[in-house]
Amino acid sequence: MQTDEPAGAFPEVSLEDLSPTIQAAVARAGWNELMPVQKQAIPYLLAGRDIMVQSRTGSGKTGAFVLPLLDRIDASRPTCQALVLTPTRELARQVESQAALLSGDGGVRTIAVYGGVAYGGQLKAFKEGAHLVVGTPGRILDHLLRRSLRLDDLRMFVFDEADRMLSMGFYPDMCRLETFLPKRRLLGSMFSATFPPAVVSLARLFLRDPETLSLSHDHVHVTETDHVFYKVDPMSRERALLRIIETENPTSAIIFCARRSRVDFVAQVLQNFGYDAEPLSSDLSQSARERVLGKLRAGELRFLVATDVVARGIDIPALSHVIQFEPPEDAESYIHRAGRTGRAGETGRAITLVADFELIVIRAIKERYDFELEERELPTREDVSTVVSERVTALLEADLRARSDLNRERLMKFAPLARSLGEIEEVMAMLLDDYYHKSLHAPVAPEKPRRPERRDHDDRGRDGDRDSGGGGGRGRGRDGGGGGGGRRRRRRRS
Ligand code: AMP
Repeated sequence: MQTDEPAGAFPEVSLEDLSPTIQAAVARAGWNELMPVQKQAIPYLLAGRDIMVQSRTGSGKTGAFVLPLLDRIDASRPTCQALVLTPTRELARQVESQAALLSGDGGVRTIAVYGGVAYGGQLKAFKEGAHLVVGTPGRILDHLLRRSLRLDDLRMFVFDEADRMLSMGFYPDMCRLETFLPKRRLLGSMFSATFPPAVVSLARLFLRDPETLSLSHDHVHVTETDHVFYKVDPMSRERALLRIIETENPTSAIIFCARRSRVDFVAQVLQNFGYDAEPLSSDLSQSARERVLGKLRAGELRFLVATDVVARGIDIPALSHVIQFEPPEDAESYIHRAGRTGRAGETGRAITLVADFELIVIRAIKERYDFELEERELPTREDVSTVVSERVTALLEADLRARSDLNRERLMKFAPLARSLGEIEEVMAMLLDDYYHKSLHAPVAPEKPRRPERRDHDDRGRDGDRDSGGGGGRGRGRDGGGGGGGRRRRRRRS
């Protein structure tokens, strides 16, 4: 499916066409000219038109949304006028520091807001009237519920790396956040590297007739399935697999192995690590197979490990991920395997672990089929630690938001102990690890997430059905966040 760029597109701009404020900002950053994404996107934002932009980190996308914003913010009003949502604290910091550099001493106050840190600094910045707020959806929502952040004067909002935001499990928070946006017309933009259907649904929810812009082509590719591969050391494939699973956090996956003996080994590794995984091997009796498949269909099993032979013809629902522990022997088998994900309008990802000597299959697939098969860098231990920490922070804070006043009172008896335990790293790490692993076993909600009904904003603390839109997928950071199932109602603000 492709979304064509609409007729009547704006021509690209160059630096000389822009206001003195923007030109000064660009000079302050030491940039000599605009990057392509900036040339394309800036004219739309200056004209007040919503956009959906396919762009990657490093393309200059931050400048594309920050520069037009400098012309729109009225620094004499001490209010939040622009909100940028990011998937991680790192990106929030990065965007904020670039925005601070670009705005210079022109009076625009910027702040990065994210979870896992004390509220004090953030509250102070809001009181002082931060104009541009960059943050992760969970903590932004916290501030909105506490009324420490108000969006009455908001003019512009941006979703940065929308696809990653969904894969972090922020969909329910974003839906809830939407109820705090003023009803009048706002300028909205969304930047994303990929456009699975879930991201398109999110755009429909928040943006008003957005223009779609893309750098690489003259259209945005709306993909049902992403195809990625990782180069791995064949001697430690299972470690690579665990790192990929930890960062990807699939809702459900089938893991293909080349041989039967590998199937049992991989299932065992995953079980030892604490995941719900089962092998589907020809050694199993028919009834044992049915039991395993029944668990998968009921959403009680997260990982099914199998060979091509055994998996052929089995009837299972579309899974969020297909992982190929080894590449298949030929390009056709790849298509059959990958076809187990991304069906029926859901988002899917096909991941292949490839040793150097197996790259020939990847080349064959690339030559034969017309889709992007992207190479990704294997996550490091630090990458895993960062992603998991962000996820656990979002989970903890969402849990806290859902507690009743009475419950909060009860848990506060542990506050002094929490302070002193904080200094014993291993104890805290153990608690967090236990908490996180419990969340991984949460049953998958069979129904698609719904958009929560608009509610009274004073409901904090009485909100027993936390994130009712998220289903059980919240903790699992469902890839795509189920945005594809969101109600397709477009926000109307005029
Ligand atoms: P981003 O994709 O927004 O993360 O930007 C990637 C890098 O490109 C950042 O280090 C920016 O400082 C830099 N950058 C952005 N716009 C320009 C420009 N017009 N000229 C030179 N460098 C730029």
